[in-house]
Amino acid sequence: MRIRRGGRARNGAFRQQGEAETVKKVENEIRQDRNAGDVVVVGGSAAGFYTATHVARGGRSVRVLESKPTLDPTSRTLIVTDHFRNQIGQSARASILNEIRRFELFTDGRSAVVSLRRPDLIIERSRLIPALAQEAQAAGASIDYDTRFLGLSPNGHGLRVEIDRGGQRKELHAASLVGADGAVSRVAKAAGWPPVDTVPLMQAVVKLPKDCPPDTTRVWFVPDDTPYFYWLIPESPERAAVGVIGEHGQATKRCFDRFLQKKGFDPLEWQGARIPVYKRWIPVQRRVGSGDVYLVGDAAAQVKVSTIGGIVTGFRGARGVADAILQKGSHELRALRRELSTHWLIRRTLHYFQQEDYSRLVDLLNVSTRESLGEINRDESTRLLWNLVRRQPRLVLLGLRGLLLGKR
Ligand SMILES: Cc1cc2nc3c(=O)[nH]c(=O)nc-3n(C[C@H](O)[C@H](O)[C@H](O)COP(=O)(O)OP(=O)(O)OC[C@H]3O[C@@H](n4cnc5c(N)ncnc54)[C@H](O)[C@@H]3O)c2cc1C
Repeated sequence: MRIRRGGRARNGAFRQQGEAETVKKVENEIRQDRNAGDVVVVGGSAAGFYTATHVARGGRSVRVLESKPTLDPTSRTLIVTDHFRNQIGQSARASILNEIRRFELFTDGRSAVVSLRRPDLIIERSRLIPALAQEAQAAGASIDYDTRFLGLSPNGHGLRVEIDRGGQRKELHAASLVGADGAVSRVAKAAGWPPVDTVPLMQAVVKLPKDCPPDTTRVWFVPDDTPYFYWLIPESPERAAVGVIGEHGQATKRCFDRFLQKKGFDPLEWQGARIPVYKRWIPVQRRVGSGDVYLVGDAAAQVKVSTIGGIVTGFRGARGVADAILQKGSHELRALRRELSTHWLIRRTLHYFQQEDYSRLVDLLNVSTRESLGEINRDESTRLLWNLVRRQPRLVLLGLRGLLLGKR
């Protein structure tokens, strides 16, 4: 009896201890939720981790919320200018798979070759994202997976952030919230930004054709299929990504299938998503109560709309927002705005080009203009544009024709 009573007493003590530990754990979690959160970044991908790293290095406490249960391993073969090298840390360099030294441009039987002085880089997203996450953590940021942002509202001294963590609704408090949650940003919607336009981007991984050197990117302008272009980017001597940007998903897929068949490409893997189209600068900050909400990367359409590249510009936007949070001025954001606006001008010029215009464009690329294209990369578009028109003034007339075609 006594033994049984003693057992009961011991069981009761264990239960009490267990309950006390659970209460302590919950209290700790609540405390953590209250304090963490000086800066909360929604979206654990390129722009989100980059922002988190720079804000954490500036001495602020940062927490990244990512809806996926783990780091997103989705592969994507991406091409960036060598500007990327200056932006990333040592560990992210492991994402570089290949270097591109030449571009071959094709249209209607014509072609032009541009040799790059500073090679473009082919990078693999599934390597880049873990490296960026590691850098953010090394800088002091914490990352919560399986945590979805639901909404926000003002509270006394900042923002109340509603989240779903593993199926449970919770609240966090933050002084600043950064939306790095991609093209269909829930943060943007919750803070009152209008939605951004998007276009479909499709890519297939294929065997590198025997006649294509692994350091050469090919671009085809086929205005009957798309106002953008097709491309082939080799990631190694064996494999390449072939892709297209279009305007409407199904029509683009039909054209892409036809193109792949015509060129004899057999897809080994598919990649794709909708990408934002930059049409005007989206102010990246909004005040909600006494807190600040910011947007970076695809969420703010920080994408070069001439080529639909969002990595380098997304990093620049992230750096600009980190500077704004750390009160280091807005130089980077002003420079990015100028850059994105020039790409929008180029896109407007090319968007209504017909076959004859592309043929003329390729014909006008004389040695001197090809030199400019090879020397100055597309992340310095204003300088590039000035150099091109200085070396080939007839491009201005062609450009004006493109702009006028768009007005018809
Ligand atoms: C096939 C393909 C090829 C491309 N090629 C190139 C290229 O060659 N060069 C180039 O520069 N760019 C390229 N891009 C574009 C580039 O990949 C994007 O611009 C860039 O990855 C955007 O990064 P991001 O961090 O802003 O957004 P995303 O990568 O979209 O990340 C958003 C993150 O937020 C998370 N999230 C979303 N909602 C929530 C929520 N409610 N709560 C918590 N988390 C949330 C998502 O899970 C995701 O991890 C390509 C894109 C695609 C699809």
